[in-house]
Amino acid sequence: MALDVGVDIGGTNIKLGVVDAGGRVVARSRLKTEAGKGPRQALERVARGIARFREKHAVGSVGVGIAGLVDHEYGIVRVPPNLPGWHGTAVKAELAELTGLGVRVTNDVNAVCLGEWLFGAGRGCDDLFCLTLGTGVGGAAVVAGRLLLGANGAAGELGHTVIFGNGLPCRCGGRGCLERYVGAEYLVKRARARVKAQVKRVSSHRDQMPLFGGLQPERPSVLASLPARRLDPEAIGRSARAGDKLALELVDELGEYVGLGLVNVVALFDPGRIVIGGGLAGLGEPLFKAVRRTVNRRGQLFDGRRLEIVGAGLGGDAGVVGASRLGRLPG
Ligand SMILES: [Zn+2]
Repeated sequence: MALDVGVDIGGTNIKLGVVDAGGRVVARSRLKTEAGKGPRQALERVARGIARFREKHAVGSVGVGIAGLVDHEYGIVRVPPNLPGWHGTAVKAELAELTGLGVRVTNDVNAVCLGEWLFGAGRGCDDLFCLTLGTGVGGAAVVAGRLLLGANGAAGELGHTVIFGNGLPCRCGGRGCLERYVGAEYLVKRARARVKAQVKRVSSHRDQMPLFGGLQPERPSVLASLPARRLDPEAIGRSARAGDKLALELVDELGEYVGLGLVNVVALFDPGRIVIGGGLAGLGEPLFKAVRRTVNRRGQLFDGRRLEIVGAGLGGDAGVVGASRLGRLPG
């Protein structure tokens, strides 16, 4: 059976897997990227990991997903955000030399999109948009059954599309970018500020209660009882699903921002399905509900328009599984 290796290179970890033609990971390993020590040492360890796989499995090709802009012809990565010192690395040529195998390279979100399209929640849909929500916000599109690369390999970068013309400054130098509103760190920042404001409100109401008989005091959010370091997206999601009002408001607001970004995607690409993955997709149904509501309200929807918005299906394996298919794609 045809087996290929998928490699998912992130700022902290590198995931490797041997993947069969049905998208199943039959062997896997994980390395520390140690990005600060430069690309060569990491690629040499990747090559050694692949050599170990080949002791047991007949591997046909290697596919790599890596954060940053990727030149798909030469497999060169440019301006990778979490891999300082890797700019200009010829990942394809170096890994081909180290392994003797055919190597193809793409952007990490493209790899996730490929995995979801072929084997996950995007299966069977040839006009698909994949959104990843985490520290950063990524996007990738399959259009008419082909992964959309763009003239510079930079298609689908939804994180830095503008949702507020004169909005908050973003680290990219722009203003009002989607990522500035929905990136995980900004969600946590908003949560801290809202919890603080609520605590203040509740205590001042308590002081005034004797003056206004019969007023019900505001119920403090469970988020207020957490130590600051534990006020993270997971806690917000858990509290929202349990019905905590403040957590629900935060997730609803996040979903509205994501929905605004997706209204633009719908207008541009007319996808039949949008798959949302990444850590923040774990916020669950309260998030998806707000996203769908916003797209339904603000998007140009018409009777019978086919559009589903669903959660990703492959979890943390999507990047490895998708990258492994690169060598099997036409073109
Ligand atoms: Zn930006």
